[in-house]
Amino acid sequence: MLNRRNFLKIASAVGAGMFLDLYSADIVKAVEQAGEKGVKLVWLQGQSDSGCTVSLLQGQHPDIYDAIMKLNVDIRFHPTIMAAQGEGAMDALNIEPDVLVVEGSIPDPEFAKVGERPVKELVKELAVKTKVVVVAVGACATYGGIPAANGNITNSNGVQYHKSKIGGALGANFLSKAGLPVVNLPGCPAHPDHVLLTLSAVILGVIPELDDKGRPKFFFNDKIHNQCARRGFYDKGVFATSFKETDFSYEKCLYNLGCRGPVTNSDCAFRKWNSGINVCMNGGAPCIGCFHEGFPDEMSPLFEPIENVPTLLGINAVTAGKVAVAATAVGIAAHAIRRGITKKPGHEEEEK
Ligand code: SF4
Ligand code: SF4
Repeated sequence: MLNRRNFLKIASAVGAGMFLDLYSADIVKAVEQAGEKGVKLVWLQGQSDSGCTVSLLQGQHPDIYDAIMKLNVDIRFHPTIMAAQGEGAMDALNIEPDVLVVEGSIPDPEFAKVGERPVKELVKELAVKTKVVVVAVGACATYGGIPAANGNITNSNGVQYHKSKIGGALGANFLSKAGLPVVNLPGCPAHPDHVLLTLSAVILGVIPELDDKGRPKFFFNDKIHNQCARRGFYDKGVFATSFKETDFSYEKCLYNLGCRGPVTNSDCAFRKWNSGINVCMNGGAPCIGCFHEGFPDEMSPLFEPIENVPTLLGINAVTAGKVAVAATAVGIAAHAIRRGITKKPGHEEEEK
């Protein structure tokens, strides 16, 4: 059980120490108020392939079993991992959860159901009863993701956003009973560390500071580009021009192959995946911006360079040096001219 004495031990055991240190002033008070009962958590899935659940189950810092046991989480409903079925499973939804997690986007009622209940109806019903916070997990639940991409025939939304605009299924003014907006953990899939550390923090009574897209700043306050192993080659203007040049020695930048690292906020280049082993660019694949609020529409067409040169030239001239910046500009501009394409706000392409 949580108390002042064992709090630090628990936080450390679940790998949340550094994260929670930032919020330590509030933590002890919250922990003292925590009851002996487990934190009731409901996990709903809308339009999703369960990829974020699979990602979470692979998490190791902490692993899901440790997190559940040490944090005394009472998972009342999770369609993928719960044993209960049928009416028994549906009865488990007749509660006021402490934490509601939503995975997958929220379409019109006929397109996604849990039993006979439309997911849209269930999310709204449970969200207003949620005592602490609603957490949207993955690109689809946060901003709509692939189901809400252009065309959007199921009229899908994120939980509190539609793409980069606040609103979504719950509306811009939604707050939990504790007065909190939806916490967004984007990604395709969401990173298990982001999910488990955020849930750990929430369960321990701390809501991390959010940015203007509802994301915890701790994970999303910097561009991937600034933490990339290939960044030195971007600064020098050394670009791969084909996928034959993307080997693991990181000796060329993947910008010209469509890398979205310069416009996407996340710590994935630093945190990496599979227990810190690798990340897209290190494996030779340009970032496709799966953490970006505009994914996938604003990231498309994939594998084509971003044409917004002025934004990209906001690189750090102090560290890059004037010559390197000029070389980068020449490399990018030459590519833009070769394609003969410009982009306007809204990302529509226009042939010259
Ligand atoms: S453009 Fe992509 S590959 Fe190149 S430095 Fe930036 S994030 Fe890394
Ligand atoms: S590097 Fe890009 S595509 Fe890869 S996980 Fe990070 S945001 Fe997603």
